[in-house]
Amino acid sequence: MQSVAHEIAANITGKVKLQEPLKYHTSFKIGGPADLYVQVQNVRELVYVLSLLQQNGIPWFILGNGTNLLVHDEGYRGSVIHLSGKFKDFKFNGLMLEAGAAVPLAVLARRANSLGLSGLTFAGGIPGTVGGAVVMNAGAHGHCLSEVLVDVQILDSSLELHTCQASELGLNYRKSKISSSEIICFVRFQLEAGDKVELERQSRDYLMFRHNRQPRQPNAGSIFKNPPDTAAGSLIEAAGLKGYRVGGAMISDIHANFIVNCQQATAQDVMTLINIVRRKVAQQFGIELELEVRLLGY
Ligand SMILES: Cc1cc2nc3c(=O)[nH]c(=O)nc-3n(C[C@H](O)[C@H](O)[C@H](O)COP(=O)(O)OP(=O)(O)OC[C@H]3O[C@@H](n4cnc5c(N)ncnc54)[C@H](O)[C@@H]3O)c2cc1C
Repeated sequence: MQSVAHEIAANITGKVKLQEPLKYHTSFKIGGPADLYVQVQNVRELVYVLSLLQQNGIPWFILGNGTNLLVHDEGYRGSVIHLSGKFKDFKFNGLMLEAGAAVPLAVLARRANSLGLSGLTFAGGIPGTVGGAVVMNAGAHGHCLSEVLVDVQILDSSLELHTCQASELGLNYRKSKISSSEIICFVRFQLEAGDKVELERQSRDYLMFRHNRQPRQPNAGSIFKNPPDTAAGSLIEAAGLKGYRVGGAMISDIHANFIVNCQQATAQDVMTLINIVRRKVAQQFGIELELEVRLLGY
């Protein structure tokens, strides 16, 4: 791994680190080290890094803001790739918004509101990147990304960049058919003309709603998807698990579908809680909860 790291470092401008703790890159503040961490600044660097990793048989994982991830305490035996540089650029072209996959979604939402462009206002409090948000078809307040997504440029496993229409991505409730060997590089959104004052007011209301309804301690957003016709949080609360604690992890006492890292929690603490919740909810309500949060290193 060391020789691959040296070769990469000599050929790209982004950071290259060995044994990088992933707790520094997740909103949960949990996760052991990745063997290799590479930050790439543009498509050329990305293709170079991927081809070198492929030649050396090293698995890789593309990391956004790590806001929907639980990383194993032992970390990840492979390379984590972080998009930066050109992938953080965006521009408005009339009603069309073109963005790199590493742009924080909330930045785009704020900028669109301030330009009087509607379509992304719902996303102002979602802490992920554009890439992670497309993969998850992120959503809130009754809206989701697929409503405004036009197309994406994806780097596929043969390291070719090609354009996919939003309709080809299988976007549905917190899922897509984008595989772990595909990397979203650039995205286009179609916005609509709106009223800046109204959009900014709406955005403040959404943020206030979250402020009052979501915990402040490190977390990864909703742990489970909502089953049809009910909310995972209501089921967990009804199972009497609000505030239930394992080690340093706790089912939030503010919102039961959040697990919080309240005292140096380990991934194992969180996983134990996840299993307890699933078992209790299945026993009491006959409903199998599906994870929304993604796992790395498991
Ligand atoms: C406080 C809080 C509130 C949240 N609220 C919401 C909410 O209201 N609605 C909601 O939907 N989510 C919410 N989330 C979850 C999370 O922010 C979203 O799922 C977000 O879209 C994840 O983006 P990310 O960049 O952090 O992705 P990561 O967590 O880094 O990765 C998630 C997945 O996307 C993949 N991925 C990331 N970037 C790329 C890329 N460029 N190409 C291909 N694959 C990629 C990763 O490999 C991984 O499989 C919340 C999270 C937190 C912590």
